[in-house]
Formats: sequence, structure tokens, C-alpha cells
Amino acid sequence: MSLQQLREAAEGHHPGPVLGLYVGTLRYGIEIDDTIRQLAPDRFCATPKYVSLTGQLDRAIHIPREFVDDPCLAALARDHEAKHAVADATAFEHARSLLSSAIRAAVRANTIAASDSRLNALALLTKGIQTAVDQVFDEMTTERRRLDAAVDSPAELEQLKTGCEGRAALMQ
Ligand SMILES: [Zn+2]
Repeated sequence: MSLQQLREAAEGHHPGPVLGLYVGTLRYGIEIDDTIRQLAPDRFCATPKYVSLTGQLDRAIHIPREFVDDPCLAALARDHEAKHAVADATAFEHARSLLSSAIRAAVRANTIAASDSRLNALALLTKGIQTAVDQVFDEMTTERRRLDAAVDSPAELEQLKTGCEGRAALMQ
């Protein structure tokens, strides 16, 4: 990618100067066992034997091609984006540690009340778990922003501006 493309991609997401780009992509999947217990002719309860959640954070650092021949700028950019990557991993690990108890609570809350059909019992459980997981990942996004803001401290941004004799600022 060119410096111009990276600057456009970072616009609104990163205070200037932009020397590179970190992109973190969260992927996850939930599998819920669909065992349903029938309590009465029209009363059904979900009784999942397991709920499994798989997730991963893909992290990528992009350095503009203009920096290829400038080891100082390339290192300056890479070191900075690596700090965002570390912040993201920290937020992800924190979220992961919260997920099992959030899912457990959602399973408890949504296997107590009976539904009028097997389908509804499973839908209720699925929705409860999805909501719980979404909430944890929303909190993760908030923490990500907070950690990113801490990375982009005034001193750090000044360093990006003035590092390598300020060459990044001169590049158009
Ligand atoms: Zn930054």
C-alpha cells in the first residue's frame, strides 16, 4: 500500500501523523448443543450438553511502500503499529477471560424458563448466548479504543513527527 492509501484508511481512526496501519480482525464462531428436554406436552427447556466458542484475532501491520528504502522510517512505523497490535491482543485476552463466565450465565438464565416448542427453547438460548458474547466483544472494542488512545500519547505522536529527522511529515 502507498502512504496515501494508508493515510486514507487511517483517517478518523488515528490521529496524525500516520506512518503505518494496524488492522485487527476478530473472527469467532459459537456452537450450541441442541439437546432439548420436554417437561410437558407444550413445555420445552434447552439443556445443552456443551456450548463451544472459538475465536481468533488476526493481526496485520501495513507499512507504506515508500518506506521500503528507508530503514529508519520503516522501523519507526513498525514499532509504533506493533504497540497497537499489542494493545489489541491485550483487549482480546481480557475479553476471552470474560467469555466463559458470560456464556455460563447466559446458559443458566435461558434454560430456566420453559418455551412452548423445541424451536423456541433453542432460539431463546441462542439469542441469550449471542447477546452475552456480543456484550463482551462490545466491551473489548471500548477497551481497544482506550488502549489505542494510550498508545497514541502526545509524546508518541511527537516522536512519529520528529523521528528520522521528520522525513515522514515531508512525504506527500
Ligand atoms: Zn498510533
